Amino acid sequence: MLRSVLSAIPRPALRLPARAYSAAAAIPAPNTQPDVHFNKLFINNEWQDAVSKKTFASINPSTGEVICQVAEADKADVDKAVKAARDAFKLGSPWRRMDASDRGLLLNRLADRIEKDTAYLAELETLDNGKPYAVAYSVDVPMVVKCLRYYAGWADKWEGKTIPVDGDFFCYTRHEPVGVCGQIIPWNFPLLMQAWKLGPALATGNTVVMKVAEQTPLSALYVAHLIKEVGFPAGVVNIVPGFGPTAGAAIASHMDVDKVAFTGSTEVGQLIQQAAGSSNLKKTTLELGGKSPNIILSDADMEEAVEMSHFALFFNQGQCCCAGSRTFVQEDIYNEFVERSVERTKKRVVGDPFNLSTEQGPQVDEEQFQKILGYISTGKREGAKLMCGGGVAADRGYFIQPTVFGDVKDNMTIAREEIFGPVMQILKFKTLEEVIERANDTKYGLAAAVFTKDIDKAHYVSGALRAGTVWINCYDVFGAQAPFGGYKASGVGRELGEYGLDSYTEVKTVTIKVPQKNS
Ligand code: ADP
Repeated sequence: MLRSVLSAIPRPALRLPARAYSAAAAIPAPNTQPDVHFNKLFINNEWQDAVSKKTFASINPSTGEVICQVAEADKADVDKAVKAARDAFKLGSPWRRMDASDRGLLLNRLADRIEKDTAYLAELETLDNGKPYAVAYSVDVPMVVKCLRYYAGWADKWEGKTIPVDGDFFCYTRHEPVGVCGQIIPWNFPLLMQAWKLGPALATGNTVVMKVAEQTPLSALYVAHLIKEVGFPAGVVNIVPGFGPTAGAAIASHMDVDKVAFTGSTEVGQLIQQAAGSSNLKKTTLELGGKSPNIILSDADMEEAVEMSHFALFFNQGQCCCAGSRTFVQEDIYNEFVERSVERTKKRVVGDPFNLSTEQGPQVDEEQFQKILGYISTGKREGAKLMCGGGVAADRGYFIQPTVFGDVKDNMTIAREEIFGPVMQILKFKTLEEVIERANDTKYGLAAAVFTKDIDKAHYVSGALRAGTVWINCYDVFGAQAPFGGYKASGVGRELGEYGLDSYTEVKTVTIKVPQKNS
């Protein structure tokens, strides 16, 4: 993701592979061995062991070594967290009585504290997730801060309406919190996904039980510490690290959770929606997988299209739900585009994510690493042309060579399934009509892009694509102000922006009889 913090990584950085991030943003040298201060469950503003006393290891993906043990939540812990969140939500509780503007103030204070600890949080993120420190420092953490500030602003501006119903009545709507919100987040942007979920939930006055991903629990737990420090009342935010089928499933099927917000795979999204439906019909928002088309028309600026398409796929080790993972190139520029993309990919700097010139760190874990290598084998077997990469990039850790496949056909597995790794698929097309049909021929509909200098074509294609986000002559431009979410099997609902407030809100209609003077 996230070319979005345009100011943080200036444009030249996207063109100069080596030393770009560091030179551009003057990033301080990181501490490559940050201390981990928090590794327990955060319930009711207290650090607690799991009821079972179980722990699990958080692994450094650069080495495969254990960073530390983390308390492992299961159903009993989720029950405790939900109870704390329910108590915090009780009528008359400090949180329910708090002025909306003060909720905004707390969110702003949290943003300030996170900003102050940018370097440490980026270090933790790099240690636990493997993403380049330069990116964590200059993209992830600043976007977290911006997201929280954006939603802080909404806290006292999320207004209802007055409604001209028939008869002698005054009718208005109130925007009320949904209640206890379960939030289940993934490992690809641990801090940012936390902020995307907490921002709108807290601005609108909900309480939260969040399950962070088992691969990357550490940065979210540090944020929990800051949540307490800035003064959120006990029980408003509870964070329970643990595994999906246990802690995650306990949230999704909990009878006292009013809403569940999930980001992750489409398969697990289906389980969450089933669990929500068969328990208490809790509301669900789902941000799921994708196989996003990135369409390069023959009139596009070649240099820009090559660089942006590279970024669209390889950013964050290819671990983005909205990655531009089907690169459709018009036939008359196809050969040149492939050649230049391969040239760019061969220059991609893979290695120690704490090194400021590194563009690509390890994949998040052994499972993802093996899965991606499996897709590369399948691509070769099914006849796609391996143009570069295709193998392991280091003798320890989960590093994979940046890989490009050309001559990819629509029915190949690598053109249909989400690889979630540094593997680019390039496909050839002839006409606009053809590429629109092929681009839409997927169960997914998260994002898409088109590169062209022709404004008519840009509008036509963007209108025709069935995707929640369409970028034109850019990719991964995110802002807290603009909604994000999927069509079709890519999700339900929208996050970010004003739209993101809807799913954290119940609309109450209040109707008052207004007696008329002469009646
Ligand atoms: P990925 O394949 O990218 O790891 P997942 O969808 O498996 O994505 O995981 C995203 C989040 O969903 C993680 O926090 C994970 O623990 C959680 N999760 C996985 N399985 C379940 C499940 N059955 N119920 C609830 N949450 C789950």
